[in-house]
Amino acid sequence: MIPNLAQTVAFIQKIELLLDLELFLVGGAVRDLLLGKNTKDFDFTTACIPDEIEHKIRQAGFKPYLLGKKFGTIGFKLEGDLIEITTFRHEIYKSNSRKPEVGFHSDIKYDLARRDLTINAMAISSKAEIIDLFEGQQDLERGIIRAVGDSTQRFTEDPLRMLRAIRFAGQYKFEIENATATAISSNFWRLLDISKERWIMEMDLILALRDPSLALDLFKTLGLAQVILPEILYLDLDFEQLHIYQNFWLATKLEILEIEPENVDQRWGALLSHCIKPVILLNYVRQNHQLGILSLEKLEIEVKDFVNQIEIKQLLKSEFVVKISLEQALKIGKYLKFSNQRLKTIAQYLTDKY
Ligand code: ATP
Ligand code: MG
Repeated sequence: MIPNLAQTVAFIQKIELLLDLELFLVGGAVRDLLLGKNTKDFDFTTACIPDEIEHKIRQAGFKPYLLGKKFGTIGFKLEGDLIEITTFRHEIYKSNSRKPEVGFHSDIKYDLARRDLTINAMAISSKAEIIDLFEGQQDLERGIIRAVGDSTQRFTEDPLRMLRAIRFAGQYKFEIENATATAISSNFWRLLDISKERWIMEMDLILALRDPSLALDLFKTLGLAQVILPEILYLDLDFEQLHIYQNFWLATKLEILEIEPENVDQRWGALLSHCIKPVILLNYVRQNHQLGILSLEKLEIEVKDFVNQIEIKQLLKSEFVVKISLEQALKIGKYLKFSNQRLKTIAQYLTDKY
């Protein structure tokens, strides 16, 4: 059932009463509620310090989860749902470090200001007030993804936010506001500052979208692919100039769409296995024309009468291309530090497909 505002407020009141603690529902749950969508997890925030939250949870007879305590988060299970409560946080990024100093604060406005996107920076109180300091509601209504505050600064603090921005744009089919998009285009290289594991965690969420096409387009056009997966940049080479009717980028996205979203490993297989194909095709044309240095103008004139679509289709289905595609997919997967299990699934998927 999709919750409405009244039900959500009743839920906040219930937990407040249970724990004797003033709470705000915050982040994704508020966004989903305002979008009329189901929520997976409930994040609450409070002025209370972590020790006090822990004490209140115990006092109410629940077992507190303390794994996130050093970041200010204490959890507990309520009727099967995981409830997480975090003290209002305030992060200070020193210019020489990307590891923020985490401080706790008594004012929710600092907690909301440290969040990534305006649509993720809203809170609801038990008095049914929506605390929206950055026009998140308006952006939700207009379908806009916008960083909270100065986008360049926010993406420098944590470059993962750039991937989150394209993920949410893809998920809701929203547009990325100009300044935010420009900041991504000029700061994509900062992804080099964070670990491959963090890239992949976010890329997995992108590939798990029902239709990841838009997010993948943005991944490519806003430059992020240059760091994470430069191989996909060749997929949209315009072969029509060469009278070859192959659109590898479209074919890749369609293949991904045919795989169920929960099979993220297979979707990676589809994405990675196409990467080498444009290179093979260009090489084929070059070899057949005994061309030395590739010049597109020269190719266009010389290739016109020569290209045989059937021959190209056969080439792309040949054992040679299938094997190289698999090898290259695994090579990229290893570079991205995929688990052996994931590499195995990719190999299986690609072997079964041909
Ligand atoms: P989802 O539906 O994918 O869970 P979510 O918004 O709940 O979406 P989470 O990753 O669970 O996303 O994060 C919870 C909240 O924490 C976000 O709504 C956002 O306010 C904040 N947040 C998460 N990651 C970041 C980040 N890298 N920088 C700033 N704020 C973040
Ligand atoms: Mg969440």
